[in-house]
Amino acid sequence: MTYDDDNIFAKILRGEIPATRVYEDEDVLAFMDIMPRAPGHMLVIPKAAARNLLDAPPEALAACVAVAQKLARAAKAALGADGITLQQFSEAAGGQEVFHLHFHVIPRFAGVALGRPGVMGDMEEIAANAEKIRAALESGAGA
Ligand code: AMP
Repeated sequence: MTYDDDNIFAKILRGEIPATRVYEDEDVLAFMDIMPRAPGHMLVIPKAAARNLLDAPPEALAACVAVAQKLARAAKAALGADGITLQQFSEAAGGQEVFHLHFHVIPRFAGVALGRPGVMGDMEEIAANAEKIRAALESGAGA
């Protein structure tokens, strides 16, 4: 399977379609999932072209997981989450729908099940959660 740079996350990286960005550095971009399975659901992607876990260079995986940790800590502080679920799906049989490597960082609240996949979120609520997470990162909660 080869990387196809027509995928939606490649378009977000190139700025061709909008995303609610929460974090960016030289190697990694993180933005809000538009169909959140819990409040504050984020996606962490490498800037390097990689389809998924199976073809990604190890350094891209390492960079994404380091950012996932920062965001997990920031989201826990910002949203009062009790825990975090980290998910990564590879290939259609593994549940992958967008073929640019990504990690889901999903804040979890005690006793609350994950929401159904594929349900569009409220964009105002998503933006408000992003703002809280960005503020927590700025105040050092991700470190
Ligand atoms: P998967 O490939 O199964 O890990 O899932 C892809 C994820 O990307 C799903 O959680 C979608 O809600 C999310 N998604 C799809 N399009 C966008 C978009 N334009 N902006 C943000 N998230 C998206």
